[in-house]
Amino acid sequence: MNAPNPRPIRPLPEILINQIAAGEVVERPASVVKELVENAIDAGASRVDIELEEGGVRLIRIRDNGSGIAAEQLPLAVSRHATSKIANLDELEAVATLGFRGEALPSIASVSRFTLASRRAHDEHGSALQIEGGKIGEVTPRAHAPGTTVEVRELFYNVPARRKFLRAERTELGHIEEWLRSLALARPDVELRVSHNGKASRRYKPGDLYSDVRLAETLGEDFANQAVRVDHSSAGLRLHGWIAQPHYSRASTDQQYLYVNGRSVRDRSVAHAVKMAYGDVLYHGRQPAYVLFLELDPTRVDVNVHPAKHEVRFRDSRLVHDFVYRTLKDALADTRAGMTAQEIG
Ligand code: ADP
Ligand code: MG
Repeated sequence: MNAPNPRPIRPLPEILINQIAAGEVVERPASVVKELVENAIDAGASRVDIELEEGGVRLIRIRDNGSGIAAEQLPLAVSRHATSKIANLDELEAVATLGFRGEALPSIASVSRFTLASRRAHDEHGSALQIEGGKIGEVTPRAHAPGTTVEVRELFYNVPARRKFLRAERTELGHIEEWLRSLALARPDVELRVSHNGKASRRYKPGDLYSDVRLAETLGEDFANQAVRVDHSSAGLRLHGWIAQPHYSRASTDQQYLYVNGRSVRDRSVAHAVKMAYGDVLYHGRQPAYVLFLELDPTRVDVNVHPAKHEVRFRDSRLVHDFVYRTLKDALADTRAGMTAQEIG
């Protein structure tokens, strides 16, 4: 049998390249909110306003008071693989910002009706840029306070296959709120205001990490009232945050927050170390609750594992596992020692 002639190999059009990338980073409105708020934080914003309509499907508008973008740089901000955050391999290996791939804005812009408006503090006026169907418009003057606004309308309007996977408004809003909760825990210094369908729905007031206010606001009074503070350093590793006492366990893993160098991640090995530290004081099938910040030199952890950056790879994963296990086991032993017999029950 004769093999058919191969089809010619052709470079993909730019918009399709961006839409393929969007397949990895833009799963749903919550992923857009995540990328945009992370950009605001990387730009040093102390306040971020998040306006949503219909669970973010109809509108996501994120305004920050960060550094802003120069008018002539707006087209670069929405170009693929263009970033102000790293310039070489050394900087990638030590990256401390949440972003570094230069992919979020072009990806989001390729699957929505997109506007970027910005102004730096010393600029006379702001500027804006619109993108629709992958077509970048002209940079035009636009009144804007110092900072940046990104507007994303009708997510997936041009990708019906993706739009089909969107869930009910409440569900999409729930995903956004869950992600914002996790961000609010890590960055209590940043004020977050959320509105949905024209009504103010949530406000995280600015505060300090250990003021306990954010903790109660995000995870509830019940968690905050019994949580045990942890803060321990050794061998260049620091673990701090809060862990729940064993009697406050959960049926699911819904209150497990782990941050590595400020980035919210999932990590099986660390989750395992935590569970081991609780050992058999947890009832069968119950899950521990915690908010833990692990800090280490950025060169000891690879954050460039997955486009959505939900995972990291530790250079010395065994050491990290044992450090987390030891630290929490000691912290839990202290709480048991300090409890009355009645509390232990
Ligand atoms: P990355 O965050 O990986 O650099 P993005 O596509 O998310 O890639 O953003 C591209 C660039 O646009 C950023 O590197 C930054 O310089 C600029 N930028 C994006 N959002 C903001 C913002 N809210 N404030 C200031 N600059 C921004
Ligand atoms: Mg980014």
